Amino acid sequence: MRTLITGGAGFLGSHLCDRFLQDGHEVVCVDNLISGRLRNIEHLFGRDGFTFFKMDVTNFIHVPGTLDHVLHFASPASPNDYFRYPIQTLKVGALGTHKALGLAREKGATFLLASTSEVYGDPTVHPQPETYWGNVNPIGPRGCYDEAKRFAEAMTMAYHRHHGVDTRIVRIFNTYGPRMRAGDGRVVPAFLSQVIRGEPLTLFGDGSQTRSFCYVDDLVEGIVRLLKSDYTDPVNLGNPDEHTIAEFAEVVQEVLGRRVEVRREPLPVDDPKVRRPDISVARRVLGWEPRVPLREGIRRTAEYFLAEFGATSPG
Ligand code: UDP
Repeated sequence: MRTLITGGAGFLGSHLCDRFLQDGHEVVCVDNLISGRLRNIEHLFGRDGFTFFKMDVTNFIHVPGTLDHVLHFASPASPNDYFRYPIQTLKVGALGTHKALGLAREKGATFLLASTSEVYGDPTVHPQPETYWGNVNPIGPRGCYDEAKRFAEAMTMAYHRHHGVDTRIVRIFNTYGPRMRAGDGRVVPAFLSQVIRGEPLTLFGDGSQTRSFCYVDDLVEGIVRLLKSDYTDPVNLGNPDEHTIAEFAEVVQEVLGRRVEVRREPLPVDDPKVRRPDISVARRVLGWEPRVPLREGIRRTAEYFLAEFGATSPG
């Protein structure tokens, strides 16, 4: 089996590279390194079956040889990143998905799209099942990401229906773990690095907004199962264990055994007020559900950040 992973040097992409190599696949990793980092994959250089190409998939994707799978994970994914690169975000969701689908068609490969819970926007249905069409503001600051991924889903279904390409769509809910960038602005790396450094926690809004956090190993297992299945409609993958962000701030301080001051900042525009996946489809079709509890996952992620900062304990 030979598997292409776009965005393979990113947080999720690099964990997928590890997993597919471990499962005996050859892995071709491509990334333009805007938000991906070589350090996420440097342990794979020189390893049998691993190839890396620095490439911008919005231009043209050239991969010599056969491919069995194309996993399209290239995209800025943290709000900070897509606020910084709104046009690149739209391009990789639209043009990049088109190129990746064209490549999958040409190679006769199965295509898997990394979509997102952001397709549900600020949801009016809770928890969110795949049948919910969402509540997205197309012209707000998050629109570049949300609409790019919604377009990507539409393009994927068009290639499936019109060209008969074998496709999968995973809607990924908030996922965390080692290799997130400390400064990417998302709440998990933000709170962990703030508590480790003894800085104030930046709590946006009143902290009553909710998220449901999934540990990366659980997500990767779900993606592998989805790829192996023959299910072509979108599937939510995430952990339904829902917390307010204020509660999450407590969890991080408790796991690290250190308390810091809390600094209130304004809630970003269009920040979803609630988010929790309905994972009935994943349970039924893939026999999947997350296994790593929040405190355990945060402990493992904290170890990564402590090592990043050259510390053995907070402070
Ligand atoms: N958040 C926060 N402080 C931070 C970063 C994020 O309170 O330093 C909040 C943010 O407003 C949102 C939640 O945490 O309600 C999750 O934000 P994140 O950027 O991780 O991902 P999102 O789910 O919004 O894409």
